[in-house]
Amino acid sequence: MAFDVLKSKNPTAFAVGFSLAENTNFKGISKHSGVFNNEMPDTIVIHYTASGSAESAINTLSNPNVKASAHIIVDWDGSITQLIPFNKIAWHAGRSTWNGRTGLNKFSIGIEIVNPGHLKKVGQQYQSWFGKFYPEEEVMAAIHRNESKERYWHVFKEEQIKAVKEVCELLIDKYGIKEILGHEEIAPRRKTDPGPAFPLDKFRDTIFNNRKESNSDTEEISKGIVTANELNIRENPTVASNKVNSPLPQGTEVTILEKNGNWLFISTKVKGWVNSNYIEKV
Ligand SMILES: [Zn+2]
Repeated sequence: MAFDVLKSKNPTAFAVGFSLAENTNFKGISKHSGVFNNEMPDTIVIHYTASGSAESAINTLSNPNVKASAHIIVDWDGSITQLIPFNKIAWHAGRSTWNGRTGLNKFSIGIEIVNPGHLKKVGQQYQSWFGKFYPEEEVMAAIHRNESKERYWHVFKEEQIKAVKEVCELLIDKYGIKEILGHEEIAPRRKTDPGPAFPLDKFRDTIFNNRKESNSDTEEISKGIVTANELNIRENPTVASNKVNSPLPQGTEVTILEKNGNWLFISTKVKGWVNSNYIEKV
């Protein structure tokens, strides 16, 4: 039924949003406010659907009488349905404020994760606002960041968090997204989603720190100097491959373009692969 970004192995078509692959579950509803302004979107807003299934969330968000929409809905199993292309403004944030901006819809992509939200304990079970009961193993007790008392919340599935992470990473690559926020942070008096069951702080720290580390790795290795008396430079990252030129003399300055195991693809007067043991990073 739904397009699964993890199974498809074709995340680019999905992330682009303007030219979705044939196999995406794209409903293309018209509940949006047109195309984002230049440089936007730069933010992702995470929500829960406050529903028991993707189907009911999709029905609600597709209903022309309901003034709400979102770009994608992530089902319990991590599968994804897209309602609005990523280049268009959806209606998920409502009245909202963050860092001096108001009305976050025009700056952000909205991701809805299927989850009933907070639950009320009734006997040995836990009941959602729409009446459905959930067993204890699907529930956690936690204090919401905007509240002071512990309440019960439905846990998110690992598959959902994994799918959301993958989508966020794609959107960061495609749009240069700078911030991932919860609806509860941009509308704290009205909204509790995604709530304490979603590990929002850890989630965004991991995503942005990982990227910083991999970026600084590249910067760190961008320049180097040959330390061997003579260093062979080859067509491919293997000793069996042909030499592209006479060996590089000691002290040659190189620009490192790529790393592959113990080999570096470097550029000097020529380009080729060299053994990384004989390059000192500068
Ligand atoms: Zn929300």
